[in-house]
Amino acid sequence: MYNILIVKYGEIGVKGKNRYLFENKLVKNVKNMLKPIGKFDVYKEYGRIYVNLEDHDYEEVAEEVRKVFGIVGVCPAIRAEKDYDKLKELALQVLEEKIASGAKTFKVESKRGDKDFKFTSQEMSIDIAGFLVSKVHDRIGVDIRKPETKIVCEYRQNHVMVYSDTIPGYGGLPLGTNGRAMSLLSGGIDSPVASWMVAKRGMEIEAIHFHTYPFTSEKSQEKVRDLARILSKYCGRLRLHKVNILEIQKAIGMNCNDEEMTIISRRFMMRIAQAVAESRRCDALVTGESIGQVASQTIQGLTCTNASVTMPVFRPLIAMDKTEIIDIAQKIGTFETSILPEEDCCTVFAPKKPVTKPRLERIEKSEEKLDVEKLIQDAIDNIEVEDIEF
Ligand code: ATP
Ligand code: MG
Repeated sequence: MYNILIVKYGEIGVKGKNRYLFENKLVKNVKNMLKPIGKFDVYKEYGRIYVNLEDHDYEEVAEEVRKVFGIVGVCPAIRAEKDYDKLKELALQVLEEKIASGAKTFKVESKRGDKDFKFTSQEMSIDIAGFLVSKVHDRIGVDIRKPETKIVCEYRQNHVMVYSDTIPGYGGLPLGTNGRAMSLLSGGIDSPVASWMVAKRGMEIEAIHFHTYPFTSEKSQEKVRDLARILSKYCGRLRLHKVNILEIQKAIGMNCNDEEMTIISRRFMMRIAQAVAESRRCDALVTGESIGQVASQTIQGLTCTNASVTMPVFRPLIAMDKTEIIDIAQKIGTFETSILPEEDCCTVFAPKKPVTKPRLERIEKSEEKLDVEKLIQDAIDNIEVEDIEF
């Protein structure tokens, strides 16, 4: 029945002159998202974006389109040649479907795009509702204030259109409209969610992962690659930088207090991430930290981590509970991969009793025993890079 999707976007509508750029980006991102299903006609028309469905199942296509950042909703619609009687027939068709799925009340909303048409929008609604009631009055009632179903009828310059439901999107801003960020991607639940949230605000994402191969397995890197692949569905092609920090962790282990291991390695990760971010012209770092979640994420821990870099660090999960983070992970499809039991470099070398209130001066004092610059440079010199695509 449905032959087209109407793509609704929110915030980008208010961006003034940039609107045009945003829309073009959105069209491109929708096409990309749909690539695995097929080639679709996606286009702008009178300040809206449409996707022609051809013979595809509307639910399958809408499910993909709604994942594109910047889209607030997707409406499956029927579009036909400009003919008012046809419009009424289509409205009846859509209403019949709503009745079949259990709706008990409805109302008609109309839009007149053709200002020369004999009816105003309001007159259209009254006329079409009258027609519909005459056909289905024994099965559904009209409710102007709180209808279960709305039948939206449009009489436009070149065609007519009817739709009812809006499938919600994720909102946000089109990818690539807000600079670039380097995301510290572990194999856990949090960091993929943090990356996704920042990408949702229009930032392009690159990922950096730290491992201690051969102490951490090949499989644990495979897991991170899988997570990056899921993210790339939303973020487009994603570059993954893989850094071996075994020598760094050994040096910390030999020279520093056991209980400071986690916080000092975290500071090394941040410094390396910043150096790579700068070389890749990224504007910020992203982590999946959340206040108080683990020993290294107490306010004192975060203060020590933060002090290791000068670049802005985005922590979109900072005030979220684990259950809220898990909800998002499930929604975006990273959860099942994140919970696979692969070891992380932090768990391999984790101290039995990490400091929960590290003091920056102490940590800095401990680091004086290390050749920080050289350790960082050696790690950077051996980075492996992969470009990951969905
Ligand atoms: P996650 O679920 O993201 O692993 P976590 O609760 O396990 O989070 P930590 O291990 O303390 O938290 O890590 C906090 C943040 O530091 C992570 O969200 C991630 O951004 C970064 N991080 C930790 N370990 C790594 C790693 N091996 N590679 C890259 N980033 C990491
Ligand atoms: Mg982790």
